[in-house]
Amino acid sequence: MIPDRTVNVDVRRKKGRHLHPWIFSNEIKKIEGSPEPGSTIRAFEAGAFVGSGIYNPHSLIAIRLYSKIDENLDIEFFKKRIAQAYHYRKEKLPDETDYRLVFGESDLLPGLVIDRYGGHFALQAYAAGMDMRTELVCRALKEVLPVESIFEKNDFNLRTLEGLERKEGPLFGETPDRVEIHEHGVGYWADIKQGQKTGFYFDQRPTRSRIRALARGRRILDLFSYTGGFAINGALGGAAEVLGYDISDKAVEIARFNSVYNNVDKTVKFEQGDVFEVLRGMKSQYDLIALDPPSFTRSKKQKKDALRGYKELNLRAMGLLAPGGILVTCTCSRHVSDGDFEECLVSAAEDRGRDFRIIERIGAGPDHPVVLGMPETEYLKCYILEVC
Ligand code: SAH
Repeated sequence: MIPDRTVNVDVRRKKGRHLHPWIFSNEIKKIEGSPEPGSTIRAFEAGAFVGSGIYNPHSLIAIRLYSKIDENLDIEFFKKRIAQAYHYRKEKLPDETDYRLVFGESDLLPGLVIDRYGGHFALQAYAAGMDMRTELVCRALKEVLPVESIFEKNDFNLRTLEGLERKEGPLFGETPDRVEIHEHGVGYWADIKQGQKTGFYFDQRPTRSRIRALARGRRILDLFSYTGGFAINGALGGAAEVLGYDISDKAVEIARFNSVYNNVDKTVKFEQGDVFEVLRGMKSQYDLIALDPPSFTRSKKQKKDALRGYKELNLRAMGLLAPGGILVTCTCSRHVSDGDFEECLVSAAEDRGRDFRIIERIGAGPDHPVVLGMPETEYLKCYILEVC
């Protein structure tokens, strides 16, 4: 049941926190009664209206604001927000039909992610207030866009912090086992139902395109290759040869399939393997190495261990680069800042005794808008380094 009463809350936030859409439990000064998880609230600060939000007493992030004005979280609201998000993608990615349609707080739909695979959609909710309104969201989505199917991918750990159970399954229509998508003229098969996260890492769009531009004539090693995006773009960009590694059999199977689909299976090979072990045994040199590991942190506390993992990977990869070689190295952990990551790369290069130039720093594509004042929305950081 969706709670139908909106309650008033007095809050006090620190300087510099006023652009951020989260209000932490220790910033709440007074609240009317004891609203249930998922209730809507009106926030006030020093007597002035701050915004409308969703509330969860069980989460450290007690309030997530969804609007600067006093408005209901109803179907009309969801239709408006989804249409806004859609028009933003249409403007920024005019030739694409496959992308992250809704990126939570960045689209003023806190706790909600919707990925679009043409007419098929994958949905994730990581706030109680959004989770209980999934049906409204689906109805709104169907009114804004032509929808063949919606599949819920809610089996991930952030939900536990909100007191939500982990679950997956169809919400509407029938999602095929594999859907065909396109990005920058390259075709991929994605598995929404069985794949990792929502099935495809849309966030790495700019990196895939950069690798394509840098690949000509190079021998490429793609570590953590998932469904082959980096490797296939390398081959399409004219690489001499490409080798990809991923620990997941399923990912390797789809990656091989994708390389055949793009007609580059003569150049690209994929192997199943644990990258940490693969790197320990590897002797050959490469002209371009891509490192795109999963997030090693689930919380701030694990940051130190994560940085140790990143350092080991980068240290080893740096040792395998041929003269003039390029390292494309990424972190997708929101707990690891740009500064932390760069420090880790400096330390790895120092230990390895090699000098590098930073050719470029890139992040996620325009379907993952970054909010000024909310660093969590800038979770993906990629450095492109060249051996001097
Ligand atoms: N660059 C990819 C996304 C990589 S996601 C793209 O653009 O599509 C991270 C990948 O790391 C996942 O596919 C996961 O299966 C893989 N992975 C996690 N731990 C691993 C390990 N120890 N060794 C190899 N692969 C691993």
